[in-house]
Parts: sequence; C-alpha cells; structure tokens
Amino acid sequence: MLCTGFNVVGFNWIASPAATELESIVMDWMAKMMKLPSKFLFSGGQGGGGVLHGSTCEAVVCTLAAARDKALNKFGFDCITKLVVYASDQTHFTVQKASKIIGIPPCNFRSIPTSASSGYGLHADDVRQGMKVDIAQGFMPLYLCATVGTTAVGAVDPLLELGQVAREFGVWFHVDAAYAGSSAICPEFRSYFDGVELADSISMNPHKWFLTNMDCCCLWLRSPAELVDSLSTNPEILRNKATDEKEVVDYKDWQIALSRRFRAMKLWLVIRRYGVAGLMEHIRSDVGLAKHFEKLVRMDTRFEVVVPRRFSLVCFRLKTRFGATSDDDGLKTNRRLLDAVNSSGRAFMTHALIDGKFVIRFAIGTTLTEMCHVDATWKLIQDIATGLLL
Ligand SMILES: *Cc1c(COP(=O)(O)O)cnc(C)c1O
Repeated sequence: MLCTGFNVVGFNWIASPAATELESIVMDWMAKMMKLPSKFLFSGGQGGGGVLHGSTCEAVVCTLAAARDKALNKFGFDCITKLVVYASDQTHFTVQKASKIIGIPPCNFRSIPTSASSGYGLHADDVRQGMKVDIAQGFMPLYLCATVGTTAVGAVDPLLELGQVAREFGVWFHVDAAYAGSSAICPEFRSYFDGVELADSISMNPHKWFLTNMDCCCLWLRSPAELVDSLSTNPEILRNKATDEKEVVDYKDWQIALSRRFRAMKLWLVIRRYGVAGLMEHIRSDVGLAKHFEKLVRMDTRFEVVVPRRFSLVCFRLKTRFGATSDDDGLKTNRRLLDAVNSSGRAFMTHALIDGKFVIRFAIGTTLTEMCHVDATWKLIQDIATGLLL
C-alpha cells in the first residue's frame, strides 16, 4: 500500500535513491539470512550483489541473456545455434521458455530425465555425459539450471556435484530455489544449498514461502557486471552525475524493464515485522504441519506418500488396488478425488504426473494455516475417498 500510494518510479538510482539503496540492503539481509556465500553480497566486496525482480521467469531470462552474450562476444554471433541449455525433466518450464525467448533454438534445450531412485534429483554424471556428447557433435554447453525444491514434487538437485560439472565445462550455473529458498534460513535445511558457492546466480521468491506479497523475486549474482554488460543502455535522457561517476547501482541495467517499483519496501517490512526468529518459526511451523499431514496419510492404508517429503509439500495418492483398474493406475480415481476436494470449496490442491502416476500435491505456505485446517482437510479427503471407493 505504501509503495503504490507513493507511486515511487525507480528507473535508476537518481530517480529514487531510497528505493535503490534499500533494495541493496534487503538483498544483503536476505543473503545473510540464507547463509549465502559473501561473494553474492554487496558487502562481500567481491563485486557480487542482488536485485529484486517480479518473478523467477524474469530472473532466468536475464541470467540466460548474460550467459548468452558472454558466449557470443567470445565466439561470435553465429554460434547462437550451437548454444545448449541443460536442466532436469523436473525443472520449471520457465527455463525452457526463457531459452526460447533469448534465441536458443528449442531443439538445443536438454531436459535430462530423473527418476524415483534419486528422489527426482538430477544426476551430475548424466549432465556431464550429455555435455560431452553435445561437444562431440559441435555444440557448446552454455547454461545449467539446478533446482532446490522442484515445483511438482519438491526434489533437490545436488548443487555441489552439478556446480563442479558446470565448472568443468565452463557453463553458467544457475540455482532456482523459487519455493524452497526460504527454508535456507533454518540451519536444518541449509545443507540442501551446499555447493551454492559454485553458482553464477541464484534466485528465490519471497512471494512464495516468505510471507511477502506478489510480486517479489530475489536474484543474486556472483558478477552483476556480466548482467549489466548484457542489459545496459545509456540513452542521453537518463544521463546523470551519479551514474557517470559510477558511484551508484542503476537497477534498470539488472532487469528487462526500465521502470521499477519500490519492491524492497515490502520485503523490508516483512523482515522487520517478523524478524529472523519469526521467519524461521514460520518455515518450521509449515514443515511441521506438512509432516503431520504426511503421518496422517501413512496411517490410512488406502493411501501412499509417493515422493519423500522434504519441505512443506506432500505428494500422495490413493493406491492403485483400491477402486482403480490396473490400466489407468489409479489415475481416474485420484483425479476424481482431487476434483471433489477442490469443488467442495474447502481446500484447493493441485496435481502432478510422476512416472505416469497421478499425484495429489498438498502444499502449505500461507500466513494463517494451522493444525485444525490440516486435520479438517485430511478428514475431507478421507470422506471423499470413502465415497469414491464404495
Ligand atoms: C514457482 C516456480 C517458478 C516460477 O516462479 P515465477 O516467479 O512465477 O516466475 C520457477 N521455478 C520454481 C522451482 C518454482 O517453484
């Protein structure tokens, strides 16, 4: 309300020094809370820093553009048809879309298969092998995206191993922690981020699990200068002393649009309002509720938890042998269960297809969810299942 009411339009530093300065401050605060390596912080003194984008999609487009321009400047503009982007089959579709937007031929996007054996995490050897094969065929590996907390099932890619592969092949390494990045503020989840020191960039969305309103995506870079090289423009109309003297950050060069909102204000308010302890309590409470739900699912033999739970997302389904014919593998029954829950108007869940299985996703993340809501939702699910299976 404050930002909208004041109508701050922070094109560049001179247009609203407060908007820029507070953004740099909260980006360092966030990075410190998440125990990110100091090279991603402005105060780390190694040229790193962070910016607030509206969405992960924009953050990925910008980092891809920076990686692309680095390659094109080095190898010539003709090589664009040879550049290859790597991700897992669980990676958010935004990476594929962003590759297309920045001019990578769609057939140069590699979606590497994952399986249940690794909890749907990406195997570093598969990536290494894929890159070797591509190089042998004249392609040029450009960008690798790893995810901490994939969208469908909350899987975690092994950052350390993948980061080493990225180093070996000299590709840009991006870590997408849109949802689960918030958990890094709690020591018990921080190990999922081991290896983040090898990343060129990392993004997470406070608007997902960090009590912050839409839209808010944190993007940190080891070397923002590479982003600025790709995205900066210096028209006469925007020239000013502060910019010319290179004393300030002009965030217009770190994003797609020129105009930008005072997004830092809401993140600053969230951090000041809850404090680190309050935010940790929020994450732990949601994970605790998800654990509780998972326990309830396991206690009812008609159901199964399909993918090991890591954060506050539980992926479950009705087992096949109850009420489903073997050929549809419970697909129809689970779809009917989900439709009935959602049309009750009392809860809303979504689904994923994992290895051909229809899986229901129970996710907790909002401000006011309590144990009583989880229990009531589980009762609703059980009652509907009983009706379906009669
Ligand atoms: C939600 C999500 C995204 C997309 O985020 P937007 O901010 O809507 O662009 C990307 N990656 C992961 C892992 C997500 O969970």
